Amino acid sequence: MANALSRDWEHAVVTGGAGFVGSHLCAALLDSGAAVTCVDDFSTGRRGNVSALLDRPGFTLIQADVAAGFTVERPPDLLLHLASPASPADYLRLPLHTMDTGSIGTRNALDLAHRSGARFLLASTCEVYGDPQENPQDERYWGHVNPVGPRGVYDEAKRFGEALTTAHAEAKGTDTGIVRLFNTYGPRMRGQDGRAVPTFIRQALNGQPLTVTGDGRQTRSLCYVDDTVRGILAAAAHGMRGPVNIGNPAEITMLRLAHLVSELTGASSEIHFIARPTDDPAVRCPDITLARGKLGWEPEVDVEEGLRRTIEWFRTVLVR
Ligand code: NAD
Repeated sequence: MANALSRDWEHAVVTGGAGFVGSHLCAALLDSGAAVTCVDDFSTGRRGNVSALLDRPGFTLIQADVAAGFTVERPPDLLLHLASPASPADYLRLPLHTMDTGSIGTRNALDLAHRSGARFLLASTCEVYGDPQENPQDERYWGHVNPVGPRGVYDEAKRFGEALTTAHAEAKGTDTGIVRLFNTYGPRMRGQDGRAVPTFIRQALNGQPLTVTGDGRQTRSLCYVDDTVRGILAAAAHGMRGPVNIGNPAEITMLRLAHLVSELTGASSEIHFIARPTDDPAVRCPDITLARGKLGWEPEVDVEEGLRRTIEWFRTVLVR
């Protein structure tokens, strides 16, 4: 059923649909009545993330690497392109795969959308802003990225993806949109994926010290996954080309986050300070004026509530 933030899609292809964000999107699209084809190579995602969807009418799972080329059984009217390693631990382990996915994979996904007459939406990232010299970041900021630093493989693949998406729209008239997602968290993150929220929760639930990098004063803004999914679907439905920031502007230091996780889990863990990764951004906060104004979208779940839900889920799975 369509509402102000959605539209009745008939058939959506979600690349990277077996990942953390993608699996929530697949479920939301099925709930809205769309048929969904999830295309994933399981390089960082898990079949288990979509196993509950396999019995639902209209859901198809295809194992394929988008960079190697892929086909779907019937043309979609929406293609959400999320395939890409996303956590630093993953893209540092898979640097060439990350670049191939962001470049060749994005080209393949754009070509499929164009052939099908589908709307295409690229899941880009706040990492296109790099280690920003402006805070908060709005969509007009060009970013501050080190192309030859360790994070360059991800940041530059996404920047290339944005340029390619724009070129496809200009050269071929493809109906494209770009969402720049900021740090998202929630159920189905992997405890070992290296991102702060699952790391702290895993450590707290295992009675280990929480490892905060640097002095912990660096900030992130954390968006609960249900809010991110609503934002992505709103941008898809609106038809805007973007880019548009989708994130929660409530900025939090990593030290405060560690204390909050400790409190909410009841773990009373110690905090250990460890070395900060190279080129780790000092601040990260979205300006969401555009999303609020054009999409009528804003996050609804505050960090305490989102962490409670996430911790609840982590308690139900093995976190080792
Ligand atoms: P994730 O690693 O859980 O999901 C990515 C999915 O893409 C995985 O299922 C993986 O197996 C799949 N994949 C990777 N390369 C592929 C390829 N070549 N072919 C087919 N499938 C491939 O990560 P996530 O956190 O769910 O992120 C999803 C998307 O959102 C990514 O594009 C990421 O860059 C973007 N994003 C996420 C965040 C966040 O905080 N989670 C923030 C900004 C942007």
